[in-house]
Amino acid sequence: MTAPRGAPAAEVIDGTAAAREVYARLKARVTALAASNVRPGLAAILVGDNAASKIYLRNKVRACDETGVRSDVRYLPADSPQDEVLATLDELNRDPNVHGVLLQLPLPSHLDAVRILQAVSPAKDVDGLTWASLGALVAGQPSFEPCTPAGVVALLERAGVGMDGSHAVVVGRSAIVGKPMALMLMARGATVTICHSRTRGLADHARRADILVAAAGRPRLITAEMVKPGAAVIDVGINRLPDGKLAGDVDFAGVRNVAGWITPVPGGVGPMTVAMVIVNTVRAAEMRLAGSAA
Ligand code: NAD
Repeated sequence: MTAPRGAPAAEVIDGTAAAREVYARLKARVTALAASNVRPGLAAILVGDNAASKIYLRNKVRACDETGVRSDVRYLPADSPQDEVLATLDELNRDPNVHGVLLQLPLPSHLDAVRILQAVSPAKDVDGLTWASLGALVAGQPSFEPCTPAGVVALLERAGVGMDGSHAVVVGRSAIVGKPMALMLMARGATVTICHSRTRGLADHARRADILVAAAGRPRLITAEMVKPGAAVIDVGINRLPDGKLAGDVDFAGVRNVAGWITPVPGGVGPMTVAMVIVNTVRAAEMRLAGSAA
């Protein structure tokens, strides 16, 4: 199916504007915490000097500055031994001025990323990636939700895309994006299909989606032919092309003529992922003040 001539273009969901709105609302909560002498604090560990990781971390620090959240970044050398990373993590887990702790991924390959991630205190797990947080998500209990899928849900809500009763198709089954995304959509009333690298007939599944979330890390995997007219298409992918440009998993130029809503890359899910880290940090501070734990 080629885009019909003169077809109305999809509403482009502006993640940067959505994130700005989140920050404006968070400032009021940070001010309220200040009245109780609490300043939310986010600590991050970066091991090595991965260029993309540095950019992501810089964006998180900026978001902290913007909202009045204290940030504390620990830069560790690329060859740091596992014990050293765990010791830094332990220090941050214990620090009363720190409410949220995250590890900037990916970690260098000599480190046991799974073990290190699980050492984050569940009460400070603002990335929502410990098994405690993911287990609570599976069980339908309150938890810190992983930031990228939380950002997607926030974008859908803001755009007025109804999840209840919809058919959602999630492309990708990673523990960070695809799986929690599917659970979060299901919790909001969607019937969910999860597609992955072994799925047969991806296009047929995708075409049945009212909400299509692409999180495969494959540039322009989703083309106009794979999209139901009027669907909400959310592009999580961030792919660096050989020419250095960024591309999502969705062929934006083609799909925008068919979809009802679409997110751009950059400027879609990325800024909202960062915003959700700050939301979770402020929430962690509020919960500590209220004397409860995540
Ligand atoms: P991953 O590599 O861990 O998982 C990719 C998933 O896609 C796998 O489950 C795989 O089965 C599936 N897949 C791969 N090729 C496929 C194909 N041809 N058809 C169907 N499924 C296929 O990646 P991830 O960590 O989940 O990230 C996915 C993408 O999202 C990447 O581009 C990543 O950079 C991006 N990402 C963006 C943000 C953000 O803030 N916007 C955050 C995290 C990840």
